[in-house]
Amino acid sequence: MRSERLYRTEAIVVRRRDQGEADRVLTLCTPLGKLAVIAKGVRKVRSRKAGHLELFAHTRLVIARSRSSWDVVSQAETVEPHAILRGDLIRGTYARYVAELYDRFVAEGEGGEPLFDLLRRTLGYLCEAEPGRETALLVRAYEQRLLTLAGFRPEWGHCVGAQEGRTCERPLKAEGNEPLGLDAERGGVLCAGCYQAHRKQRGIVSLSPAALRLLRACQRQSFARMRSYPAEPALLDEVERAMRHYVTHHLERNVRSSAFLRRLKREDGT
Ligand SMILES: [Zn+2]
Repeated sequence: MRSERLYRTEAIVVRRRDQGEADRVLTLCTPLGKLAVIAKGVRKVRSRKAGHLELFAHTRLVIARSRSSWDVVSQAETVEPHAILRGDLIRGTYARYVAELYDRFVAEGEGGEPLFDLLRRTLGYLCEAEPGRETALLVRAYEQRLLTLAGFRPEWGHCVGAQEGRTCERPLKAEGNEPLGLDAERGGVLCAGCYQAHRKQRGIVSLSPAALRLLRACQRQSFARMRSYPAEPALLDEVERAMRHYVTHHLERNVRSSAFLRRLKREDGT
């Protein structure tokens, strides 16, 4: 059976780079998986497609298959422009982080409808949410979902530690003040006892019970409920740092947008 030369898909543009004189290579999050395609002539002033292929925009595309190079965007039509994410500095920074996390954790040709839906919904929420506490909570909830779908689901329920060759697996209590540990290598949290035994080891950082409570909520509760989660700035900072530790460990290098966010916060004095 001969495959069709053209195919249709919805897509979100997660990365763009210039190519040649007037073209652009786009990295797309689609229900078919992550794709790289080329939009020809899109940097020319008169391009009709350009307005439909902005960063973070949700578009409907017709794409022509190519055997020798990138597939070529043949038609583009905006579904949801998400324009505020390109105009507002704070929202834009979170959107870049969200898109970059997808790009780093999902390989080309991988991913599918659940990841596309997650990214589409998260960008939609970022457009509506109040910049600050609400956007921060949404991004933390997004991280938990993305990591789960990408196969890096953190374990927030039972201790991931081991002592004297035996795994601990004790149910974790997210209460009191005794510090727990975040062990990125083992993919989860250490109970107070395992943390005390291993705290000097590289890659293990402390985590408060309140932070564990918030991370659990991020993994289990809806976006709508997370927006109103009662979290003080200090707790949000702790959870952001913990997730940066977890994410960087698994990516083995820093996420650029996350560093940019930290810089912004310092400049902001918050
Ligand atoms: Zn333990």
